[in-house]
Amino acid sequence: MIITEQKTVEEISKALEKHSKVFIFGCGSCATAWHTGGEPEVKEMAAKLMELGKTITGWTVSEECCDERKIKREIRGHKGAIEEADAFLVMSCGAGVRTIALVDEERPAYPALNSLYLARLERLTKSEEGCVLCGDCILDKTGGICPMTTCPKELLNGPCGGYKDGMCEVDPERPCAWILIYERLKKFNQMEKYEAIQEPKDQSRRKHPRHVDKGAAEKVAV
Ligand code: SF4
Ligand code: SF4
Repeated sequence: MIITEQKTVEEISKALEKHSKVFIFGCGSCATAWHTGGEPEVKEMAAKLMELGKTITGWTVSEECCDERKIKREIRGHKGAIEEADAFLVMSCGAGVRTIALVDEERPAYPALNSLYLARLERLTKSEEGCVLCGDCILDKTGGICPMTTCPKELLNGPCGGYKDGMCEVDPERPCAWILIYERLKKFNQMEKYEAIQEPKDQSRRKHPRHVDKGAAEKVAV
């Protein structure tokens, strides 16, 4: 899940200062589950913007704002209300805002949310960064614990010299990632993985923009 947070009303108001008629997109996927851009939040946002004197020409919660096909369908389905609007406010992650901005070239799309991280959920109100999409997964070598997201220094070989009583020197409230990795590998009788030196990652796999065209090739372009 992509974790998002709502921007302040002041920030949104500033972004929309040149616009009086706004169409709002919510997202039925991550932003609905995380309660930052589902139907209740869209309605709340519409009410706040009306208090600020904006006209809300319409709103919808798209199944997924990052899916161009679904956005095209939504735009066709809300043609009249969208043609009346002079801007979109999008309550989704940045990928959703970008998709809407690319599909409709007639009016600008503004983000109502900040995109924070790709998460694993502990429960519906508690999440933790799960993956930074490094393009070269090494969880098979680390007992399923990602050093890129769990160690603040992203160390591929650890621990560093700073851990104390099993806790991280950067954040003493959290266990050292490499102590966790050690314990997992020991439990699974895979200590040879712990002792092996991890080579530096191929950073070109994180070069932007990454893209995949499954019709053309089955690999990430770098
Ligand atoms: S190593 Fe970590 S950041 Fe890289 S793909 Fe695996 S989980 Fe994601
Ligand atoms: S103490 Fe452990 S988790 Fe913290 S920075 Fe050092 S190796 Fe990484």
